[in-house]
Amino acid sequence: MNCIFCDIVEKRAKAEILYENDLVISFLDIRPVNYGHALVIPKNHYKDFLSMPKSELDEVIKITQKISSAVYNSLKPDGFNVITNNGTAAGQSVFHFHFHIIPRFTNDSFSFRPQLKNYENGTMKEYAEKIKSEIKL
Ligand code: AMP
Ligand code: ZN
Repeated sequence: MNCIFCDIVEKRAKAEILYENDLVISFLDIRPVNYGHALVIPKNHYKDFLSMPKSELDEVIKITQKISSAVYNSLKPDGFNVITNNGTAAGQSVFHFHFHIIPRFTNDSFSFRPQLKNYENGTMKEYAEKIKSEIKL
């Protein structure tokens, strides 16, 4: 299987590594939205958020919070985003699960400015009921 993030984990490809342990590695995104844009990934290959086993997800989230704190305290951005893209339609381009930590500055080039919808009468409840029927704990 051809996966650039597995290559980084295995040190077959170079990356600017920020941190690694047995389960997780974090490195700088090669095409940053803003300088210091970091990625946090599990060392094992899982294609997306839904494929992550809970124990490894717990570790990825724990390290994502620690790296976010380091990005925030060292670079002093105005804010930051933690995001994960899942599926091509959502902008995923590397199919090895990862969190982005993106330092943000007032009026920078990154934007979440979608055209927001309104729920028509009663449809908000319908959407909630559909989703609730699939919650499996
Ligand atoms: P996504 O589009 O959410 O799947 O994010 C994948 C990210 O991986 C993009 O922001 C890329 O810039 C980044 N990326 C791809 N190849 C590399 C690489 N070799 N080293 C670091 N980051 C990479
Ligand atoms: Zn991989």
